[in-house]
Amino acid sequence: MRMTCPFLREAQVKYCRTAAVRKLIPLAQAGRTEEKCSSGEYRTCKVFQTQPLEESADQGPCPFLRESLMQYCAAAPVAKLVPYSESLLSRCGNDSFRYCELYLSMAQPGVPSEEVEGLAMPERLRYTANHMWLDMGEDGMCHVGIDAFLSRVLGPVDRLTFVQLKGRTRPAAVLTVNGVDLEVMFPNAILLTGCNLYLRANPSRITCDPYTTGWLFEGRPLPETAENLMQGPAARHWMETEQRRMNEFLQQEQAARSGTMSDGGLFAEGLAHHLDGDWLRVLFHEFFSPYASGKRV
Ligand code: SF4
Repeated sequence: MRMTCPFLREAQVKYCRTAAVRKLIPLAQAGRTEEKCSSGEYRTCKVFQTQPLEESADQGPCPFLRESLMQYCAAAPVAKLVPYSESLLSRCGNDSFRYCELYLSMAQPGVPSEEVEGLAMPERLRYTANHMWLDMGEDGMCHVGIDAFLSRVLGPVDRLTFVQLKGRTRPAAVLTVNGVDLEVMFPNAILLTGCNLYLRANPSRITCDPYTTGWLFEGRPLPETAENLMQGPAARHWMETEQRRMNEFLQQEQAARSGTMSDGGLFAEGLAHHLDGDWLRVLFHEFFSPYASGKRV
């Protein structure tokens, strides 16, 4: 069943077909404020008089008065009415609303509680071997971001640059962490229609809320978009393996001696800030590059 945003509301409105600027009047107010349009008084209206219809009745309503079903966002500070058909095309009328800035700030839905050894891992998502997620909506749209494993490694992000904003592509972004530029790339192509541009002003969301406000890319899936991605028990098993692999990697590189390990076995938050640039690049290449993705699938 198609889901719509809980803030999307409907209103039956009236409007004047002839006015240069279409002024919409919700029906609840129409009787009070626009009696002229609904009664025989419409003949005194200046707009009607500029193009009077000879055969129009003496009683109302005005022949130029139209009614329509519109929708509006109840979360917006100023309600903007949009035609019913347009809202179905936008994210308001389908399950893409989950990634709307207004929805997220008003509803604060949080992240599903599913975890693997202390790292959030929502069940409904699919995961790439280089630690990105894909959310395939029933509305024919998809969203992409980084998973909690990668966000824990990164810690605070200084800057974010989107490589491409639209088109058929493997969507990519460059994250600058501790002065080092790191490229994250979704390994399969999508028809990219938008990027989360809010992140450029507030990149901390990428790592604070990687599954909600920190999403990166939006688009339409192609036949190959979900190829070789993991979901369900296979994804959870892979995540456990990745945590062990990370600890082994850090031990092998003697990173443990520089204080990058945590007591409990789960690597330290913001690991990227504890490693020098060369170690960080090696680690990134091993776990998060498109190469890492190809190697694991
Ligand atoms: S703009 Fe956002 S919050 Fe408002 S109805 Fe659309 S999806 Fe919902």
